[in-house]
Amino acid sequence: MIQAIPISTKIRTELVDITSAVRSAVRGSKISSGTCHIFVPHTTAGLVINENADPSVRRDLLRWLDKIAPHDETYEHTEGNADAHIKSSIVGIEKTVFVEDGDLALGTWQGIFFCEFDGPRQRTVMIKIVER
Ligand code: ZN
Repeated sequence: MIQAIPISTKIRTELVDITSAVRSAVRGSKISSGTCHIFVPHTTAGLVINENADPSVRRDLLRWLDKIAPHDETYEHTEGNADAHIKSSIVGIEKTVFVEDGDLALGTWQGIFFCEFDGPRQRTVMIKIVER
């Protein structure tokens, strides 16, 4: 079964912490050991797993992605979101996390973040938990 988590982003680029929503889906599945697949069905958004303690890490990530693909640069794609497509391609749109003892096996400082690169928008994150 695929579960969908709705996300409302507030600004053009931001990282939204979805760790607790993913954890709730894992606990609700009653699966004790397996894998949790997380997938973003969008072309201008992405997923990262990184530091959840110091928010400056998230700001640095967005700032450095914008140096690679600046929003105000000239691109062939003229929808005004070419930078967002590039940022999405760089960070990727899927992650897999192990499930052990009915919980996400994340490191102490790791959080799961939805990356908005062309907001604000209504978004969806898809989750599938597989027992092994
Ligand atoms: Zn586009």
